[in-house]
Order: sequence, then structure tokens, then C-alpha cells
Amino acid sequence: MKPWTLAAYGAFFVDVDGVLVHDTQPIAGATEAFRLLQQSGHVVILTNNSTRSRVQHAQHLSSLGFELQSTDIVCSSYVIAEHLKKLAGAVQVWPIGEQGLRDELVISGHHLATDPHFAQWIATGMDRRFDYTKMAQGLHALLAGAQWAATNEDGTYPIPGGLMPGAGAIVGALRGMGFEPDVTVGKPNAPIFDIAKSLVSTDKILMIGDRLGTDILGGIQNGIDTLFVLSGISNQSDMQTEGIQSTWIAKSLASVLSGDIRRL
Ligand SMILES: [Mg+2]
Repeated sequence: MKPWTLAAYGAFFVDVDGVLVHDTQPIAGATEAFRLLQQSGHVVILTNNSTRSRVQHAQHLSSLGFELQSTDIVCSSYVIAEHLKKLAGAVQVWPIGEQGLRDELVISGHHLATDPHFAQWIATGMDRRFDYTKMAQGLHALLAGAQWAATNEDGTYPIPGGLMPGAGAIVGALRGMGFEPDVTVGKPNAPIFDIAKSLVSTDKILMIGDRLGTDILGGIQNGIDTLFVLSGISNQSDMQTEGIQSTWIAKSLASVLSGDIRRL
């Protein structure tokens, strides 16, 4: 069994919430560790957070000390827009989400429907202003025959000191009316990994994440090694209950500085 070495990997897929930051606060040692990863290989951000566009994510991360190009950010708002284009070309979309989702849909060439009844697709993401009206608009689009793409199904979103409802809560509201997404693009599903893989020129990739059901399961299902960090939402005992086992485990991203990373 080979011991841990950073040099074994040529690219790093890095989750944001619970790995680099807790909401708007960098996690201890994460900026230094992030720079070390950038010196060792190609770092690509993989985040299910659809509230920002790629450009907004890059600006936000840079302001917190994580310098990178927006082209190295693969967020679910971007992936859903690109995936819809691949599936159906430019379409009329009714978004239920925040500005980052709308921005990426428009950048990819889609049209934002002016009435839910005219939508060919609805695209759902996290929406901190979700309400009964938006739920009804989603229902009316689906009843009129729209297909449904979801960014991700994370039930919760971590903030310092606790949790808030995630994009999965929005999916749950529409599911409660009897519908199912036609496609979900974010982790652990293939579309986000396919786009990220297309950006790097190596197959020696490590996925670094804090959530077993998305980051780690996604890495396993998409054929890449995983590093599970305990600075976020899942803890070590969850591995047994969820039946998901990473390649490596560490306390936090800062462990890449000390090399204190164990194989499972
Ligand atoms: Mg996370």
C-alpha cells in the first residue's frame, strides 16, 4: 500500500464549503494549503453552490485569499447551463435560483422565459428567496410540459455555527408536488465531473471534499481518488452509516502541509 504523496496527483478537484471556507470565513490553513496544491498541479474548483456564476465565485474566493481564474471554476450553475445546451441546444428556461444561475444560463445562450407556461425547461438551484409564488411558478411550468434540470440535491448548506436549507430543499418542494428532476448535474453526478475532467490534461486526479454523499461518492463513481476532510459536514463515523469510503482521510485541507493524511 503506497503512503501519501502529493506528487502522485497532477490535478486536484477541490470543493469549497467545508473545505476552503465556512460561508465567508476561510478555514484555518486552507489558503496556504491551496497554494501548495496549485504549485503541485492543476487545481479546479468543483462546487454544487449555484448561487454564484464562475466569475462571481472567482471574485469571492480571491477576496478570501484563494487566487484562481474563473475558467478553473466548475460550479453547478455553469454545469447546468452547459449540460442543457448539450442536451437540447439553446432553450427557454424558467430559473428558480439566484443571480449566478440566471447569469450562467444567459452566458450559455439560453433564453429566460417570461412566463412559466412558455418554459421548455425549469432549472432549480439554491434560492434564498424561495417562496410559495416561486413554487407555484415551478408547478405551472411542469404542468405545461417543461422538463426539469436540478443543480444538485444537497439538503443543507453549512454556515458558521450551523446549517441552512440547500438546493435539495427546493427540489424537495417540487418533488412534494409529484415531480422528479429529469437530470441533476452537480456532485455526485457525472456532468460536473465530465466538465472538470475536460479541463485537466492528466488522469491522476484527486477529489478533495467534506461531504460523503456528493464529493466522495462522486469521486468513486467517476473513477478518481478521494480525500475526505473532516472540517465540514460529514464526520468519520458517517462513513460506516453511509457505506461510502474515501481513498484518504485528513483533519482538514491544512493536512496537505504537514502530510498528516491516512489511507483507509
Ligand atoms: Mg462541501
